[in-house]
Amino acid sequence: MERTSSRDPRRRSLEHRRQSASGSSRAVSATRRRRRRRARPFSPLTVRSARINMQDMATATSIEWTETTWNPVRGCARVSPGCMNCYAERMAHRFSGAGMPYEGLTRRTSGGPRWTGRMTLVPEAVSAPLSWREPRLVFVNSMSDLFHDDVPDAFIKAIFWTMKEARQHRFQILTKRADRLAEIGPKLDWPENVWMGVSVESDQYTWRIDRLRGTPAAVKFLSLEPLLTALPSLSLHQIDWVIVGGESGPNARPMKAEWVRDIRRRCRTSGVPFFFKQWGGVRKSATGRLLDGREYNEMPRGRDERSRRLQVRRGEEAERELRAS
Ligand code: SF4
Repeated sequence: MERTSSRDPRRRSLEHRRQSASGSSRAVSATRRRRRRRARPFSPLTVRSARINMQDMATATSIEWTETTWNPVRGCARVSPGCMNCYAERMAHRFSGAGMPYEGLTRRTSGGPRWTGRMTLVPEAVSAPLSWREPRLVFVNSMSDLFHDDVPDAFIKAIFWTMKEARQHRFQILTKRADRLAEIGPKLDWPENVWMGVSVESDQYTWRIDRLRGTPAAVKFLSLEPLLTALPSLSLHQIDWVIVGGESGPNARPMKAEWVRDIRRRCRTSGVPFFFKQWGGVRKSATGRLLDGREYNEMPRGRDERSRRLQVRRGEEAERELRAS
């Protein structure tokens, strides 16, 4: 790094100005680069002409609060401490060999797999939900973040177009890039069947919820997972649904029961449905989903028959497991 070394105050000030100017021009060119990436064209015609053979673009999932995942974008980059043990990064690495869907998107490091920072758009997947007849709860981009800087505005608009057309489904989008969400939100057409959520892993990131509140999404939800701290700043004003979960997998960081109970109490006070996903840990099947002896599978209230059925199904599964144990 260049240092200011002169003892002459006038020269020092000149050097300082030169350094600040180059720093700010670096920032300006980064902003320009970002704008250029976001402005890349994407033709909705591609979407409309790619409606055939899309059944396999949906993946059944074991994620407790949804039914299907849909991934028209692949790849990501870490953005905050919640990403430290990113499940998608590990999973993508397993499919990153030559000719595989995540080729070039992850690399091996001494600390385990890492995203390379490259993203892949999958235009042929954009219209896939239009061909799924049976209504589903669909988690959008479980293996990426739709609001990543490298996803062009036009591509995001195409995804929203599909969600509006595929009105038989309910779509759940989750992001940590709440600033971009706030920026692009007013330019999007928000159909009733889109549920928008932000991830918040610690009290330092509750500002993301403010960005979410600013969107016109019909259902606004929070994924407090992996929960890494208590959330004393949490406000549930205008929030329709809260999911809480501990981190799972290798190097999982612990979650305290008192943090979870406090969030449950806030949900009860504010009348917000509460979904307890898991305690997590290295083996999440060993720690389970019970909080004070029961499961919490609540879904956004009165929204639709589909989410009510999922809630009933999760309840039945819980009962079967209890009987079997
Ligand atoms: S934003 Fe999500 S997908 Fe991207 S690195 Fe972080 S946890 Fe992983």
